[in-house]
Amino acid sequence: MRRMSRRAGGRVRAQNAHDPGTFANGGARHPSTHTAMFNEPDEHQEIRDAVRHLCRQFPDEYFREIDARKAYPERFVDALIEAGWLSAMIPEAYGGTGLGLTAASVIMEEINRSGGNAGAVHGQMYNMGTLLRSGSAAQKEKYLPAIAAGKLRIQSMAVTEPTTGSDTTKIRTTAVKRDGRYVVNGQKVWISRVQHSDLMILLARTTPLAEVRKKSEGMSIFIVDLREAIGRGLTVKPIANLVNHETNELFFDDLEIPEENLIGEEGCGFRYILDGLNAERTLIAAECIGDGYWFVERARKYASERVVFDRPIGRNQGVAFPIADAFIEIEAANLMRFEAARLFDEMKPCGAQANMAKYLAAKASWEAANVCLQTHGGFGFANEYDIERKFRETRLYQVAPISTNLVYAYVAEHVLGLPRSF
Ligand SMILES: Cc1cc2nc3c(=O)[nH]c(=O)nc-3n(C[C@H](O)[C@H](O)[C@H](O)COP(=O)(O)OP(=O)(O)OC[C@H]3O[C@@H](n4cnc5c(N)ncnc54)[C@H](O)[C@@H]3O)c2cc1C
Repeated sequence: MRRMSRRAGGRVRAQNAHDPGTFANGGARHPSTHTAMFNEPDEHQEIRDAVRHLCRQFPDEYFREIDARKAYPERFVDALIEAGWLSAMIPEAYGGTGLGLTAASVIMEEINRSGGNAGAVHGQMYNMGTLLRSGSAAQKEKYLPAIAAGKLRIQSMAVTEPTTGSDTTKIRTTAVKRDGRYVVNGQKVWISRVQHSDLMILLARTTPLAEVRKKSEGMSIFIVDLREAIGRGLTVKPIANLVNHETNELFFDDLEIPEENLIGEEGCGFRYILDGLNAERTLIAAECIGDGYWFVERARKYASERVVFDRPIGRNQGVAFPIADAFIEIEAANLMRFEAARLFDEMKPCGAQANMAKYLAAKASWEAANVCLQTHGGFGFANEYDIERKFRETRLYQVAPISTNLVYAYVAEHVLGLPRSF
């Protein structure tokens, strides 16, 4: 990119460096855009500062190079574990920090806001929601201290199947109890971080759909020890995809799981996994908020510096207004994200807020991504600006972990009481 570097001059350097004067990194040059303006509890500033400090050791070049190789950010993940950020939700009694989902969401937001991608690690946070709320004392004793010490990772959750898609209650993977073990057969798809995790939460049918009163009954969740399972009934096949997201097809062929790995009561797994799903949607909303601020800041900076027709392009309202619009949308989505996290932490129902937060934040970050790319003109397409990478990364969240239409369906039926369509 010699031509581009010459043309853009010092801009490339300034944009790729972690400039302490930009709000993406917490500087004070633009205090009005420093953080979310409303509602954000001040008590998280310490967490923000510490995570930003860690992230500064992993600049854009690091994530760009990892993305180009489709590799896993090992050094970054090790640093997060070492600093205790991935055990933030584990109670102090088990060696963690005992923070709630709100704090966890701030950690994830800051990773994305610093230019990284929390998709490499967020599974540990939302799976913790399931294990903490529904796991037995023995399971917590067995796994939590090792996870807190960084010896075990619980980064994967296996729900989606190729034939049933969003229609989760029709899953065909079965777990049949036999001689003190569950024998699992079936297939999952798009199961992330399996190659970089030790444990996985699995949703399977333990009672056939035809034999239950309600379709959400008869499913159970299990802890699968991937170290024992892979090659002994579980086959993992990586899926090449748009983003650098380690994700896989899983084939279960008489995989045996010890009975004690069942989480909670048999048949109630769908209810338990909802805690994990609500936590996941809230965390991903926070990641989208982080992405959104990153895009707005890059667009703001470029529009202030790029001179065309003898003036900064940001002086044109056609350039400035879409950036302002993107910022407004992110700020609004952020309010719903904190509301969802607050309700989750207070053990109150939060399904509507978690879904709406994910919807609003994913939409806002995608719009911000589009505006950022457009503001940069041709340079937005250059790998070394990192915009195309973040653009691909944030697009995922309109589809996963729940697609936009399914959020509409949830709100229509469960919030507005409209007739259910499926
Ligand atoms: C990179 C990546 C990582 C993932 N990681 C995980 C993971 O770790 N664990 C896991 O379990 N899953 C994971 N997923 C799966 C993800 O949750 C699903 O892709 C998502 O829930 C959508 O399901 P589907 O792909 O089967 O789409 P489908 O259900 O086939 O839907 C396809 C399209 O049709 C629409 N649609 C379907 N039914 C209706 C309807 N009734 N009304 C209106 N519109 C409808 C959907 O909104 C969607 O746009 C991941 C996916 C990706 C791409």
